[in-house]
Amino acid sequence: MNIENGYFFISDITGYTQFLVHSELDHAKEILDALFDSILDRIQSPLVVSGTQGDAIICYAPDAAFHQPAQLLDVMERIYYSFRRLLEFMKLNTTCNCDACVNMSTLDLKIFLHHGQYLVQQIGTQSDLQGRDVILAHLLMKNRVFEKLGLRGYGLVTERALQAMGIDPVAEGMLAHMEQYEHYGTVNVHIHNLPAAWQRERERNRTVVTAEEATSYAGAFVPVPPWIAWDYASNMDMKKLFYDLESIERTDAEGGREKIGTSFHCHHKMGDISYVYVDYQPPDYVTYKGSGFGVTSLVTVRIAPAEGIQHPRTSWNGYCCRRQHSDRCRTQFIIIVGDRCCRGCGCRQPAENAPCAIG
Ligand SMILES: [Zn+2]
Repeated sequence: MNIENGYFFISDITGYTQFLVHSELDHAKEILDALFDSILDRIQSPLVVSGTQGDAIICYAPDAAFHQPAQLLDVMERIYYSFRRLLEFMKLNTTCNCDACVNMSTLDLKIFLHHGQYLVQQIGTQSDLQGRDVILAHLLMKNRVFEKLGLRGYGLVTERALQAMGIDPVAEGMLAHMEQYEHYGTVNVHIHNLPAAWQRERERNRTVVTAEEATSYAGAFVPVPPWIAWDYASNMDMKKLFYDLESIERTDAEGGREKIGTSFHCHHKMGDISYVYVDYQPPDYVTYKGSGFGVTSLVTVRIAPAEGIQHPRTSWNGYCCRRQHSDRCRTQFIIIVGDRCCRGCGCRQPAENAPCAIG
């Protein structure tokens, strides 16, 4: 058994017990199962599920699994968004008046992120985590966030996790908060207002270049799951290698986690290229507007699980490529380049006016 350092990532459905107790069981169970699956679907390597506790899903990932651990905040947002998207879809698509269907909007999602030491003990197919920081990660689920901040859905990130990820909570708009626990004393945490982020996400225009409208198109299969492919694709040293760059630097003043508006300048033997993210949904896709060599282009990079060879969730040690993180052992990496707005709105604005003028 080795002591490792890494991240603890726990999702926990708000209002779960009350919903189950006060609703007709058949529809309540259907709703909760669907929501639970929507969370599990989005938990991908390098996160490893170590177990469940009621409605809480306990995951971890060692430090060594990341080039850019800050992507854990992107993972957190993707899980929250798919949870809320499904909840809204189910609400819109039911005409049932039972308590479960009427009260499903009382459900929400909390996600906890902590960093520290742990030991992994393998018990059958389950990996049991042990250690002082593991206990603290569990304790965080009992907190006063609702009482103090009135939030039923949120991401709670400990100061230790923020430091390990290199994230400035102020730049991320997080709220400072503290909790007290026996044996641990005061624990400083920061709260990511996920419902507010979801609201912004819903109101946002999407910019995607589709294959049908592309002027050029390239694709490749890589033997790793989507988040790992993205971790490599967005790493500065890797970009230098991939594109044979002499240098690459980030040029926006914001710093911190990459997002819409993050920009780069690349120096290449043949000339300079600048690009800025105009849509950012890793690992599903990112779209950037690039200019260089006298050309402006809109480029969408899609990272999708390769069709037909998705593995069942249990085969973490997949038999296809025998890599540790092969729950989805092949990923299709697609780069689509277009020079027109391709949101399907029909405006056909040149790409330099993207995002689309129609809105
Ligand atoms: Zn119902």
